[in-house]
Amino acid sequence: MSAPSSESAAYADVVARIARAAQAAGRDPADVTLVAVSKQQPWEAVAPVLAAGQRVFGENRVQEAMTRWEGRSDGLELRLIGPLQTNKAREAVAFFDVVETLDREKLARVLAEEVQRQGRRPRLYVQVNTGEEPQKAGVVPAEADAFVAACRASYGLEPEGLMCIPPADEPPGPHFALLREIARRHGLAKLSMGMSADFETAIRFGATSVRVGSAVFGARD
Ligand SMILES: *Cc1c(COP(=O)(O)O)cnc(C)c1O
Repeated sequence: MSAPSSESAAYADVVARIARAAQAAGRDPADVTLVAVSKQQPWEAVAPVLAAGQRVFGENRVQEAMTRWEGRSDGLELRLIGPLQTNKAREAVAFFDVVETLDREKLARVLAEEVQRQGRRPRLYVQVNTGEEPQKAGVVPAEADAFVAACRASYGLEPEGLMCIPPADEPPGPHFALLREIARRHGLAKLSMGMSADFETAIRFGATSVRVGSAVFGARD
Protein backbone atom coordinates (compact mmCIF):
# COMPACT_ATOMS: atom_id res chain seq x y z
CA MET A 1 0.00 0.00 0.00
CA SER A 2 1.25 3.47 -0.80
CA ALA A 3 -0.98 5.31 1.68
CA PRO A 4 0.96 6.99 4.50
CA SER A 5 1.20 4.86 7.62
CA SER A 6 -1.03 5.63 10.56
CA GLU A 7 2.12 6.53 12.51
CA SER A 8 3.26 9.14 10.02
CA ALA A 9 -0.25 10.65 9.93
CA ALA A 10 -0.36 10.78 13.74
CA TYR A 11 3.14 12.26 13.74
CA ALA A 12 2.14 15.00 11.30
CA ASP A 13 -0.88 15.75 13.45
CA VAL A 14 1.22 16.12 16.62
CA VAL A 15 3.70 18.39 14.80
CA ALA A 16 0.79 20.56 13.63
CA ARG A 17 -0.75 20.69 17.10
CA ILE A 18 2.59 21.77 18.60
CA ALA A 19 2.84 24.58 16.05
CA ARG A 20 -0.71 25.74 16.72
CA ALA A 21 -0.21 25.66 20.50
CA ALA A 22 3.00 27.66 20.19
CA GLN A 23 1.39 30.25 17.95
CA ALA A 24 -1.61 30.51 20.25
CA ALA A 25 0.82 31.26 23.08
CA GLY A 26 2.62 33.88 21.02
CA ARG A 27 5.67 31.66 20.74
CA ASP A 28 7.79 30.56 17.80
CA PRO A 29 7.01 26.88 17.01
CA ALA A 30 10.73 26.40 16.33
CA ASP A 31 11.33 27.00 20.04
CA VAL A 32 9.45 23.83 20.99
CA THR A 33 11.26 20.54 20.35
CA LEU A 34 9.24 17.37 19.89
CA VAL A 35 10.88 14.46 21.68
CA ALA A 36 9.23 11.41 20.12
CA VAL A 37 9.07 8.82 22.90
CA SER A 38 9.78 5.52 21.17
CA LYS A 39 10.12 3.39 24.31
CA GLN A 40 8.43 -0.02 24.10
CA GLN A 41 7.37 0.60 20.51
CA PRO A 42 8.03 -1.92 17.76
CA TRP A 43 10.43 -0.74 15.07
CA GLU A 44 7.59 -0.85 12.54
CA ALA A 45 5.98 2.01 14.47
CA VAL A 46 9.23 3.99 14.78
CA ALA A 47 10.53 3.64 11.21
CA PRO A 48 7.82 5.73 9.48
CA VAL A 49 8.34 8.57 11.96
CA LEU A 50 12.08 8.47 11.38
CA ALA A 51 11.41 8.42 7.64
CA ALA A 52 9.12 11.44 8.01
CA GLY A 53 12.07 13.41 9.33
CA GLN A 54 11.85 13.19 13.12
CA ARG A 55 15.33 13.19 14.64
CA VAL A 56 14.84 13.58 18.42
CA PHE A 57 13.77 10.44 20.27
CA GLY A 58 13.21 9.66 23.94
CA GLU A 59 13.83 6.31 25.59
CA ASN A 60 13.36 5.29 29.19
CA ARG A 61 15.79 2.37 29.41
CA VAL A 62 19.49 2.46 28.65
CA GLN A 63 19.73 -1.09 27.36
CA GLU A 64 16.57 -0.97 25.24
CA ALA A 65 17.71 2.31 23.70
CA MET A 66 21.16 0.98 22.85
CA THR A 67 19.75 -2.15 21.26
CA ARG A 68 17.37 -0.10 19.15
CA TRP A 69 19.53 2.83 18.12
CA GLU A 70 23.10 1.49 18.19
CA GLY A 71 24.86 2.09 14.90
CA ARG A 72 22.34 4.65 13.67
CA SER A 73 23.97 8.00 13.22
CA ASP A 74 21.72 9.91 10.82
CA GLY A 75 21.72 13.15 12.79
CA LEU A 76 19.80 11.64 15.66
CA GLU A 77 19.46 13.15 19.11
CA LEU A 78 18.70 10.51 21.73
CA ARG A 79 17.36 11.46 25.13
CA LEU A 80 17.14 9.36 28.27
CA ILE A 81 13.87 10.21 29.98
CA GLY A 82 13.66 7.29 32.43
CA PRO A 83 15.40 6.82 35.79
CA LEU A 84 19.15 6.23 35.58
CA GLN A 85 20.94 3.85 37.93
CA THR A 86 24.49 4.75 38.78
CA ASN A 87 25.76 1.42 37.43
CA LYS A 88 24.42 2.44 34.01
CA ALA A 89 25.91 5.93 34.07
CA ARG A 90 28.95 4.93 32.01
CA GLU A 91 26.81 3.62 29.16
CA ALA A 92 24.39 6.53 29.44
CA VAL A 93 27.17 9.13 29.12
CA ALA A 94 28.66 7.23 26.18
CA PHE A 95 25.37 6.81 24.37
CA PHE A 96 22.87 9.58 25.04
CA ASP A 97 22.95 13.17 23.82
CA VAL A 98 20.69 14.31 26.65
CA VAL A 99 19.96 12.83 30.10
CA GLU A 100 16.74 14.32 31.49
CA THR A 101 16.63 12.45 34.79
CA LEU A 102 19.42 13.80 36.98
CA ASP A 103 17.83 13.69 40.42
CA ARG A 104 20.33 12.87 43.19
CA GLU A 105 23.83 13.69 44.33
CA LYS A 106 25.18 10.20 43.92
CA LEU A 107 24.13 10.22 40.29
CA ALA A 108 25.58 13.72 39.80
CA ARG A 109 28.91 12.50 41.18
CA VAL A 110 29.04 9.43 38.96
CA LEU A 111 27.96 11.39 35.86
CA ALA A 112 30.63 13.98 36.55
CA GLU A 113 33.26 11.22 36.83
CA GLU A 114 32.14 9.72 33.52
CA VAL A 115 32.14 13.09 31.79
CA GLN A 116 35.76 13.52 32.91
CA ARG A 117 36.75 10.01 31.96
CA GLN A 118 35.06 9.91 28.57
CA GLY A 119 35.43 13.54 27.55
CA ARG A 120 31.81 13.37 26.47
CA ARG A 121 29.29 15.74 27.97
CA PRO A 122 25.60 14.90 27.45
CA ARG A 123 23.26 17.80 28.06
CA LEU A 124 21.50 17.42 31.41
CA TYR A 125 18.10 18.15 32.91
CA VAL A 126 17.25 17.97 36.59
CA GLN A 127 14.06 16.02 37.16
CA VAL A 128 11.75 17.64 39.70
CA ASN A 129 9.01 15.62 41.40
CA THR A 130 6.58 18.54 41.43
CA GLY A 131 3.75 16.46 42.86
CA GLU A 132 6.00 14.97 45.59
CA GLU A 133 4.75 11.51 44.68
CA PRO A 134 6.62 8.79 46.59
CA GLN A 135 6.70 6.40 43.64
CA LYS A 136 8.14 8.99 41.28
CA ALA A 137 11.76 9.94 40.70
CA GLY A 138 12.97 13.53 40.91
CA VAL A 139 14.05 15.97 43.57
CA VAL A 140 11.19 17.49 45.52
CA PRO A 141 10.66 21.20 44.91
CA ALA A 142 11.97 22.20 48.35
CA GLU A 143 15.30 20.52 47.54
CA ALA A 144 15.57 21.62 43.94
CA ASP A 145 17.43 24.86 44.65
CA ALA A 146 20.11 23.17 46.73
CA PHE A 147 20.43 20.35 44.25
CA VAL A 148 20.93 22.60 41.21
CA ALA A 149 23.49 24.58 43.20
CA ALA A 150 25.32 21.38 44.19
CA CYS A 151 25.38 20.14 40.59
CA ARG A 152 27.18 23.31 39.63
CA ALA A 153 29.43 23.89 42.63
CA SER A 154 30.30 20.37 43.75
CA TYR A 155 30.24 18.43 40.50
CA GLY A 156 30.95 20.95 37.76
CA LEU A 157 27.74 20.00 35.99
CA GLU A 158 25.70 22.69 34.28
CA PRO A 159 22.14 21.44 33.69
CA GLU A 160 20.46 23.12 30.75
CA GLY A 161 16.99 22.76 32.16
CA LEU A 162 14.39 21.04 34.31
CA MET A 163 12.04 18.16 33.62
CA CYS A 164 8.83 17.06 35.34
CA ILE A 165 6.05 14.48 35.10
CA PRO A 166 2.97 15.87 36.87
CA PRO A 167 0.66 13.54 38.81
CA ALA A 168 -1.69 11.76 36.43
CA ASP A 169 -4.80 12.72 38.40
CA GLU A 170 -4.23 16.46 38.79
CA PRO A 171 -4.49 19.38 36.38
CA PRO A 172 -0.93 19.78 35.09
CA GLY A 173 -0.88 23.58 34.79
CA PRO A 174 0.23 24.36 38.37
CA HIS A 175 3.02 21.77 38.07
CA PHE A 176 4.26 23.30 34.83
CA ALA A 177 4.12 26.75 36.42
CA LEU A 178 6.11 25.53 39.42
CA LEU A 179 8.78 23.99 37.20
CA ARG A 180 9.05 27.19 35.20
CA GLU A 181 9.44 29.22 38.39
CA ILE A 182 12.22 27.00 39.75
CA ALA A 183 14.02 27.18 36.39
CA ARG A 184 13.71 30.96 36.31
CA ARG A 185 15.34 31.28 39.74
CA HIS A 186 18.38 29.43 38.43
CA GLY A 187 18.60 30.94 34.99
CA LEU A 188 17.83 27.57 33.41
CA ALA A 189 16.51 28.13 29.90
CA LYS A 190 14.98 24.76 29.08
CA LEU A 191 11.78 23.12 30.29
CA SER A 192 11.00 19.49 29.39
CA MET A 193 7.32 19.10 30.21
CA GLY A 194 4.17 17.84 28.57
CA MET A 195 3.26 14.39 27.27
CA SER A 196 0.53 13.07 24.94
CA ALA A 197 -2.32 14.16 27.21
CA ASP A 198 -1.10 17.64 28.05
CA PHE A 199 1.61 18.89 25.69
CA GLU A 200 -0.46 21.83 24.47
CA THR A 201 -0.95 23.00 28.05
CA ALA A 202 2.77 22.59 28.67
CA ILE A 203 3.58 24.75 25.64
CA ARG A 204 1.30 27.43 27.02
CA PHE A 205 3.33 27.31 30.27
CA GLY A 206 6.63 27.62 28.42
CA ALA A 207 7.76 24.08 27.57
CA THR A 208 10.80 24.12 25.29
CA SER A 209 10.48 20.38 24.67
CA VAL A 210 7.53 18.03 24.90
CA ARG A 211 7.89 14.27 25.29
CA VAL A 212 5.16 12.62 23.25
CA GLY A 213 4.84 8.86 22.88
CA SER A 214 1.42 7.32 22.36
CA ALA A 215 -0.05 10.27 20.42
CA VAL A 216 2.71 9.74 17.83
CA PHE A 217 3.21 5.98 17.82
CA GLY A 218 -0.03 4.57 19.21
CA ALA A 219 -0.56 2.79 22.51
CA ARG A 220 2.38 0.83 23.91
CA ASP A 221 2.14 -2.94 24.42
C1 LIG B 1 6.47 7.30 28.52
C2 LIG B 1 6.88 8.68 28.84
C3 LIG B 1 6.44 9.78 28.08
C4 LIG B 1 5.45 9.65 26.93
O1 LIG B 1 4.19 9.36 27.41
P1 LIG B 1 2.89 9.42 26.44
O2 LIG B 1 1.77 9.60 27.37
O3 LIG B 1 2.87 8.12 25.70
O4 LIG B 1 3.07 10.58 25.54
C5 LIG B 1 6.91 11.04 28.40
N1 LIG B 1 7.77 11.23 29.41
C6 LIG B 1 8.23 10.22 30.16
C7 LIG B 1 9.17 10.50 31.26
C8 LIG B 1 7.80 8.91 29.91
O5 LIG B 1 8.26 7.92 30.68
